Amino acid sequence: MATLLIELTNRCNLNCRHCFDQRHGGHDDIRLPVIEKIIGRAGEHDFDTIVFTGGEPTLHRQFPQIVRRVYEAGYRFGFVSNGQNFQKIYPQIKFFLDRLETITFSLDGVTPESHDSLRGDGTFTNLLKAISICVAKEIPFTFNSVLTAHNIHEIELLAGLAQQLGSGGVRFGQLMLTPAAMDHGLALTPDMINTVADKIEKLKESHTYPIGMGPGFYTALLFPCASLQMAELTITHSGHLALCCHLPDHGSALLHQDSQLDLNHVEFEEAFATWQGAVQSYRSTKKIYFNNRGKGFAEHLPCWFCQSYSNQVNWLKAYANTHWFRFIEENNFLGRPSND
Ligand code: SF4
Ligand code: SF4
Repeated sequence: MATLLIELTNRCNLNCRHCFDQRHGGHDDIRLPVIEKIIGRAGEHDFDTIVFTGGEPTLHRQFPQIVRRVYEAGYRFGFVSNGQNFQKIYPQIKFFLDRLETITFSLDGVTPESHDSLRGDGTFTNLLKAISICVAKEIPFTFNSVLTAHNIHEIELLAGLAQQLGSGGVRFGQLMLTPAAMDHGLALTPDMINTVADKIEKLKESHTYPIGMGPGFYTALLFPCASLQMAELTITHSGHLALCCHLPDHGSALLHQDSQLDLNHVEFEEAFATWQGAVQSYRSTKKIYFNNRGKGFAEHLPCWFCQSYSNQVNWLKAYANTHWFRFIEENNFLGRPSND
């Protein structure tokens, strides 16, 4: 069975320093007819779980109605949230929680100072209020922690706090490289990424508590994430099927077939078939590239390979004096990888 990730909105009630600016500075909610189209057909294609993302998904103007529709249609569901709106939204969704998989809250620091320095004043306290409701009502939740140059010294403490608060686990995500991440001094260097990954591996070995790593770290796998394994489908707030939720612009540049992936204009089956063809084509390209060139750089940074393939990395030329630029240049990895 597979998971559908639906970006309900690109609006947000926060303005985090590590957010992809272009993704979350928006004003748009996904349209209800698109949601109905997805709910009506996705089950026929083995999708049994729907996870809402954003922006902040609970801000969608019809969030409780959408949860109700998904529930009544028999799907399990979950959502990713910064937790700031949970006290308001909980009374409206509490009737549907027996089909809730989990709520994934964002936790980026172990103190108000470190969390709030990325997410804004008072956000740590508000998050703890949301968690106290979950604990009192036995609502399952987990944490997602985005690692930046400002919080990598807190990895062990973050895992400890997550366990102490009663979360079902913690997943450490890598900050995608963007101009905003570079400008704010938050981007990890390639060396930091490897050190961090070793640290998390050691933590996983020494804990029975579930500790995970998001995609983007070193991997020997050619298709390291659920999206490339075609077990997860992302739909953006504009109603487009996309490669994944990690890329700026969600990898739609990589799939190249905009109107045929747009659920505002085509039926779910047609868009899904186009998506399957486009992802298969990207998988073949990646396989041929590796067969011809051997692995190396891109197995260390699989998300960067996707970004590079979709021509989303040339902005890095503006950062010519950084570790990153030198690393990418040494590995001859600016520009779009080809098969030859
Ligand atoms: S909560 Fe998420 S979507 Fe909102 S600004 Fe922060 S990182 Fe971006
Ligand atoms: S950017 Fe590529 S490797 Fe990273 S999560 Fe998305 S599809 Fe997977």
